[in-house]
Parts: sequence; C-alpha cells; structure tokens
Amino acid sequence: MNADNPQDKSTWSTFWVKIWRGTVAALPVPRHGHEALEYIKQNTTGLAERFQSFIDWTPAGSPCDIDEMKYWVPVPFNNRRGRVTLAGDAAHPMLPYRGQGCQHAVADARNYVDALFKVWYGGEEREAVMTTYDVEMIERGGEAVKQAAREAELSMSPETVSKMLMVKKGHGRLAQKV
Ligand SMILES: Cc1cc2nc3c(=O)[nH]c(=O)nc-3n(C[C@H](O)[C@H](O)[C@H](O)COP(=O)(O)OP(=O)(O)OC[C@H]3O[C@@H](n4cnc5c(N)ncnc54)[C@H](O)[C@@H]3O)c2cc1C
Repeated sequence: MNADNPQDKSTWSTFWVKIWRGTVAALPVPRHGHEALEYIKQNTTGLAERFQSFIDWTPAGSPCDIDEMKYWVPVPFNNRRGRVTLAGDAAHPMLPYRGQGCQHAVADARNYVDALFKVWYGGEEREAVMTTYDVEMIERGGEAVKQAAREAELSMSPETVSKMLMVKKGHGRLAQKV
C-alpha cells in the first residue's frame, strides 16, 4: 500500500493463509509457486464467499508457499550455570490458534531483563536467577503450546469449532488456565 495514497488499491498487496491438516511429504505438487497455488485453488472450495474469493481471485503468478506449522512443548535444558537460555519461538513455538506466541515472547523478554537486573544490580547468583527464569518460561510457554494445539484440533471440524477458546473468549492473556 502506498502510504501517501492509501485509496489507490493498485498499490495494495494482500496475503492470505490457508491452514489444513496434512504433511508436505504427502503433497502431490511442489511446495512453491504456480503449481502450489493451483493445488490450493483446486482443493479449496465451499468457504464463505469472502474467504473463497481471496483464493479464487489470486492472480496466476502470485507467490505461494506451502509449509508445515511446527511446534514443540519446551522441556528443561542445561543452562550452563545460567549462561544460556531461550526465549520466544525459539523456546516454545506454538500454533497461532490462540494468538499468544508474540505475547509470550514479550513476557520472556521482560522476565529476562528483570533477571539480568537481579544479577547485575541486585548481586543475586546468576545460575539461581536464570534457572528461575527458565522454569517459569518452560511452564508458561508449555501450557500455551498445548493450549494452542488443542485449539487447532477443535478448529478442524465444524462440530467442534464453536468450542474453541478463540470463539468463546477471543484472544487470551498468556495462556490463562481455563
Ligand atoms: C499465521 C500466524 C499468526 C500469528 N498470530 C499471532 C497473534 O495474533 N498474536 C501473537 O501474540 N502471536 C501471533 N503469532 C506468533 C508470533 O508471530 C511469534 O510468536 C513471534 O513472532 C515470535 O517472536 P520471536 O522474536 O521469538 O521470533 P521471530 O519473530 O521468528 O524472530 C526471530 C528472528 O530471528 C531471525 N533469525 C533467525 N535465524 C537467524 C540467524 N541465524 N541469525 C540472525 N537472525 C536470525 C529471523 O529472521 C527473525 O527475524 C502468529 C504466528 C503466525 C505464523
């Protein structure tokens, strides 16, 4: 979009994300480019018109990439006496169904800075402080990863989609326990 002339839609770029259950290994077409776009068009029908038209109207030649969304539940790791740690998606990549990945990354960053201050200015012992950071991050991040995976499962069927927290409660604050 041209910020000086936002009404000029010829300068707009639009992107969409289509999510389905599957593996890239099972794809009958290349993951990128024209064939990937045609594959999605041919295998995506019956969405509500507003969403369907995004896909149907995507011009040939538009960039298109198919990939897997990966996640893992964080587990305790050796923090090398408090000198190594993790934050954000590197620690707890989660599916986007609860809209919490960035929130947890920000919470990690805040907690990490607090921990550094305790070590640098509070004179607290580094290994103990960073281990406390790690334990909290793993528990909080792990809960969010699992919650997002449950949300993903519920989203895959018209029978269960109304049970999603995203439907019932919208975006949550940091993997609230519900
Ligand atoms: C479709 C989708 C929707 C989402 N919606 C939401 C939402 O509504 N709300 C929400 O809170 N979160 C959402 N998220 C999640 C959010 O985007 C991520 O959790 C967040 O961006 C993670 O931040 P990060 O800094 O940990 O990692 P990233 O944003 O991935 O940043 C990592 C950076 O490191 C760089 N990098 C990688 N390797 C190297 C290297 N070797 N050297 C130097 N740099 C390197 C990368 O280029 C990147 O810039 C969504 C994610 C997706 C995919």
